[in-house]
Amino acid sequence: MTEHAGHEHSGHQQAGGHEQPGGHDHAGGHRHQQSQPPTRPEPEGRRRQGGILPGLVRGLATTARTLARPSHTAEYPDTRPDLPPRSRGVIALTEENCTSCMLCARECPDWCIYIDSHKETLPATTEGGRERQRNVLDRFAIDFSLCMYCGICIEVCPFDALHWSPEFEYSETDIRDLLHEKDRLGEWMQTVPPPPALDPASAEPAEVAAANRPPRTPREPSAARTARSRPGASATREAAASITREAEGDV
Ligand code: SF4
Ligand code: SF4
Repeated sequence: MTEHAGHEHSGHQQAGGHEQPGGHDHAGGHRHQQSQPPTRPEPEGRRRQGGILPGLVRGLATTARTLARPSHTAEYPDTRPDLPPRSRGVIALTEENCTSCMLCARECPDWCIYIDSHKETLPATTEGGRERQRNVLDRFAIDFSLCMYCGICIEVCPFDALHWSPEFEYSETDIRDLLHEKDRLGEWMQTVPPPPALDPASAEPAEVAAANRPPRTPREPSAARTARSRPGASATREAAASITREAEGDV
């Protein structure tokens, strides 16, 4: 005879402690539970508000309120947007500042800056001096169909040759026309706003401080400076000379 008393299985209990899946309860202690299909919980919001009608009424009230307000839509192009002065519209180039160092082209994540240059030899300015070489910019172009306006080129330029202009109206019907060569990039400079004023509480720029410094006084001759810096030096020299004279007299 099989001993069931005390046997327990998950969800299955017979006489003496067995419980079967399903939860039926038979005479003798069998109990089987019928699993119920899960019911979908009612949405929290609907339960709280007691149906969709109040929500619908509130939505209609919001619509009516918004209809009564004046519109904020700017009628571009009749009304031009009032953009912040440092907006990123287009990149402008100061050609004179560019040394063709290629930093901007190397750092551009989109590789949309094209620079061509050649070296030019300058004759020596003094007799016996050396000739000098400098880069001459032949081509500087930015393809604005690729540019993502990250501003890295402007940040890395060590000579302030690139600037942001807030001008943004240069869309084209042909995507190839978004390649701006250096002449066109130079024209954008007219739309670049002046830099913001310096903070009055900030320290004076080093160049300004150097220009305002009083001129240096001419240096004294070295002998006079030595005598003044060592007052006992002449007395020591005289004492040494007298000792020498005495020694010579003894001889
Ligand atoms: S980083 Fe500045 S100076 Fe150098 S190539 Fe670019 S624009 Fe010219
Ligand atoms: S703004 Fe960014 S993506 Fe555009 S040219 Fe400069 S570095 Fe390249």
